[in-house]
Amino acid sequence: MTLRFFVIIGTLILMCFVTSLLVGYRYFFSLPTINTSIEDYQNRELLSLKIALDREFIFLETLNYDYAVWDDTYNYMADFDVEYVDSNFVGDTFNSLKIDGVFIYDINFNMVYGQAYDFIKHTEFDAPDLDLQVNKLNRAIIPNSKASEDDNSLSHSGFLQTADGPVMFASHVIKRTDKTGEPVGSIVFIKKVRPSLIKSLAEIAQVELSYLQIEQASSLNDIATLKGSLQGEDIATQRKRVILDINGNPLLALNIKHHHQTLPVLFDHYLKLILLMFFVMSLLSFYIVNRYFIEPLINGAFAINSMLVKNDLQPLRFSNKFLEMRVLISGFNALIKQVKDQNFKLEKISKIDGLTQIYNRRAFDEIIVAQWEQAQQQKNAFGIILLDVDHFKNYNDLYGHQGGDNVLQALAQKLKQVAKQNTGTLARYGGEEFILFFKQLSYEEFVDISQQLLLAVRELNLPHEASPVREYLTISAGCVFATKETLSSNNVSMQSLIKEADIMLYEAKNSGRDKTSIKSI
Ligand code: GH3
Ligand code: MG
Ligand code: MG
Repeated sequence: MTLRFFVIIGTLILMCFVTSLLVGYRYFFSLPTINTSIEDYQNRELLSLKIALDREFIFLETLNYDYAVWDDTYNYMADFDVEYVDSNFVGDTFNSLKIDGVFIYDINFNMVYGQAYDFIKHTEFDAPDLDLQVNKLNRAIIPNSKASEDDNSLSHSGFLQTADGPVMFASHVIKRTDKTGEPVGSIVFIKKVRPSLIKSLAEIAQVELSYLQIEQASSLNDIATLKGSLQGEDIATQRKRVILDINGNPLLALNIKHHHQTLPVLFDHYLKLILLMFFVMSLLSFYIVNRYFIEPLINGAFAINSMLVKNDLQPLRFSNKFLEMRVLISGFNALIKQVKDQNFKLEKISKIDGLTQIYNRRAFDEIIVAQWEQAQQQKNAFGIILLDVDHFKNYNDLYGHQGGDNVLQALAQKLKQVAKQNTGTLARYGGEEFILFFKQLSYEEFVDISQQLLLAVRELNLPHEASPVREYLTISAGCVFATKETLSSNNVSMQSLIKEADIMLYEAKNSGRDKTSIKSI
């Protein structure tokens, strides 16, 4: 798994976690609390509406009671004196009582008096629905005259459908003022349901209210009747309630628009804003982590990997804003420097001969291969000289091994001088043998160099009393010169050239030592 993938997954998990936390809080705690308070509020609105309607009925019932429980009305049922109706139920009566009709029935539902008068329009109107001999169903508006006095069924109220539209009614059994008397009939007051009534109900309940007279009852069967609560319904911005008539048929459909016109939703503006801010913050955090941590690490890993592939250690070149990352980078760079230094030392150790401090055989093998190829490509001449100290065993025997070492060191330095002067390369070939090669020189120059080497050793004048050749230390040299033509013909190999030099050295030794034996091929 990559670090970037891990951080992306981590960020996504964090985003999911915080989102579910916020949404969960909103869903399980915040939203139910708000919903409960709105539900409570809407319950109160419906209760207020119901109470306001009940109050309208109480008002009508009270008026009705005043006329029903009254000696004058009771007496009227005995003599039907027109004086009673003429004095009590004039147009002004309807205006002041704000009622639209008075109907008096005997105990057999015969209407003994009836007056329908629109107190707003000041006009009489027909109320055939109140003829209870014809509309027997409407007899439900009459209270039970046989009920006891304490019984509420002495009075009755509710809604009734009429040809002129729905009306509220209140009825009461006619009694004497002292509430005595045999049942003689009932008196009914009606009041039309008008927009003004709905308006006043709306004002009291603090809701917007509109109504619809119901023509077809069946279409409203599912709608709840108006009671003082939501009746298990969910909160809503508006709802419908029906009002039933006295026979239980739907009469009015009320459209109630609640105070709360926006209901809480799960993802409201605040939650969306918080989530948006959180997402932006998460992305920003990811950008920062990616930009300042992951990218440098990836770049660093890439750089280290490419160093390993190329086998070339290099310091990291990028910087970082953060101290720890800078410490890491500079620490790594210091480490690289240390490793490079160590490598340099190790390489030197592996290529330089410990005793003489010149190239060893291993280094020489590497160098000569490269130089040989270059010489072949550039069509240069190439000369190899193989040197061997004469009678060195004897030297060791006489002067000791340490003495021998000192001589090898002095000899190497001298040979190095000559090699350097002639842009040649010198290496210790093994034991008391040295090897040199030279490029871009003529045969004459090559011969001259071989002589220079011999002379240089002689000039060192290192006493060698055990040498049968001279009193001082001498060397023998086997020299092979490959001309440009030979090299470019590719007929000769570097190994065969060294072999030839060895043969030449053998010759020089055999012909008396302190000599060079040269061959040009
Ligand atoms: P020749 O003239 O035929 O070359 O005779 P030589 O004695 O030089 O040749 P030989 O091969 O018999 O002996 C070489 C000697 O060089 C033997 C060995 O002890 C000595 N030698 C080789 N390497 C070292 C070294 O590093 N230090 C010392 N002190 N002696 C060494
Ligand atoms: Mg030897
Ligand atoms: Mg020797």
